[in-house]
Amino acid sequence: MERLQKILAHAGVASRRKCESLIIDGRVSVDGVTVTDLGYKVDPARQVIAVDGKPIRLEAKVLILLNKPTAYVSTVNDPEGRRTVMSLLPKIEERLYPIGRLDYDTSGLLLFTNDGALTERLLHPSHHVDKVYRVTVEGRVNKEARQLLQQGVELEDGLTAPAIVEVLRQGEESVVHLTIHEGRNRQVRRMFEALGLPVKRLKRIAFGPIALGHLKTGEWRLLEPDEWKALY
Ligand code: URA
Repeated sequence: MERLQKILAHAGVASRRKCESLIIDGRVSVDGVTVTDLGYKVDPARQVIAVDGKPIRLEAKVLILLNKPTAYVSTVNDPEGRRTVMSLLPKIEERLYPIGRLDYDTSGLLLFTNDGALTERLLHPSHHVDKVYRVTVEGRVNKEARQLLQQGVELEDGLTAPAIVEVLRQGEESVVHLTIHEGRNRQVRRMFEALGLPVKRLKRIAFGPIALGHLKTGEWRLLEPDEWKALY
């Protein structure tokens, strides 16, 4: 027996919080009876759970890693009609959605799943999932810039948490590996821009325990069993 909202989130209906709202709003039924109690426990193998009268399908969990190219939006739909990352994924029955976002002009590691509960956990600020970015900037990343990145950079939306900085190449164009655990909008670009270092290229190369490895741009693969274990 499992709590109703947990089953709904696992089935990929929505995030746990949204599933709770669905229940409270009276849109969920069990064996034909509307349930608005969040503590309600259900046996999904024996009982029929429906949202808005439509029975839910308990899907197998899927986790896919994509090496996102630039010039794709990382949302399921784009109101401006731009290409979305969804067009690069295999055509499978499970309803996948990205775990977080990468900017239109950012490339690299993007995970997709149909597991709403996992997505919510990984994106929750308290979870502190480290993300590693390969950042190519215009100019030299001097000692002062490195120290500021390590201590926190003052942005419009507040001071950033300390980052780990590894300079791989210094010159007119420098290359840095930056590790952060926050996920604010355009955060890496804004951090470097605040230091007078415009970002020329940005690629995510790791998300928590998952590394991009040698996957080619635009290609996807299923996560390996040991990668699953590391995420859950
Ligand atoms: N930081 C950014 O600035 N852009 C991204 O896409 C991800 C992190």
